[in-house]
Amino acid sequence: MTHGLQIVHRFQANLFPVNAYLVESASDVVAVDATLGLSDGRWLRARIDELGKPLAGVIVTHTHPDHYGAVTALVEGSDVPVYAVGGVDDVIRQDDAEKERILRPMFGEEWPLKRAFPTRRVRDGERVSIGNSSFRVVDVGPGESPHDSWWILESNAHTRVFAGDLVYNHMHAYLADGFAEQWLHNLARAKRELPADAELFVGHGDPIRGPQMLDWQRDYIETFLEAVRSGADRDGLTGDALTEAVARRMKQYLPGEDLEFLMRLSVEPTRMRLASGR
Ligand SMILES: [Zn+2]
Repeated sequence: MTHGLQIVHRFQANLFPVNAYLVESASDVVAVDATLGLSDGRWLRARIDELGKPLAGVIVTHTHPDHYGAVTALVEGSDVPVYAVGGVDDVIRQDDAEKERILRPMFGEEWPLKRAFPTRRVRDGERVSIGNSSFRVVDVGPGESPHDSWWILESNAHTRVFAGDLVYNHMHAYLADGFAEQWLHNLARAKRELPADAELFVGHGDPIRGPQMLDWQRDYIETFLEAVRSGADRDGLTGDALTEAVARRMKQYLPGEDLEFLMRLSVEPTRMRLASGR
């Protein structure tokens, strides 16, 4: 039992804005997510080597490839365990062929030929010790991705939570998987269940503290859904015309361009989902 004084290092990918984190204890390092591309993964691996401590394990917070693609670069040639809740492991394996089909043309050799899957399945509420650090796992279920989880670092410091993509800190969001209502539910749950001063290490943008950003993300999602509904139902738009109209509305809410492509990719799938009443 030697938790207490871990240092959390944020790693920002080059390929596009996505974070991985390194939890450094007195004797080792735990990586939380790994970003998408192999070149970023190798750079992250070099950062671990610079710390001069062994990599005790890797955690995958949710099922999106911009968080697990580069796990390959962290663990290849070793038996470092990769942890995820069962639902995350299941979805990553089920969707692998489809992700290969979509991501290979977009990212070429950056997307690993051989993807590394989780090797240790953990359960909701479980306390997981990895090297010298311990985490309490919250299996969140569908939300931003088809399966999300939160990993709460046990330490003497304030509460620190690796929250996946629960919040995109002032970046546009991916809503194409069709779980927007569950995502809203998860934001309300985080507000209820996590301490008000918890620090949330999120997948995109700076870490957040306090409930304001949870409300900001809720309003982003609700604005997006309303923009799709009104563009499709009231104005009869589809395809590119609808995407442009929704993008204009969302850039009033958030003027920046970071990850705008993810938001644009989400418009048509959301229209179809809403139209089919799901
Ligand atoms: Zn992400």
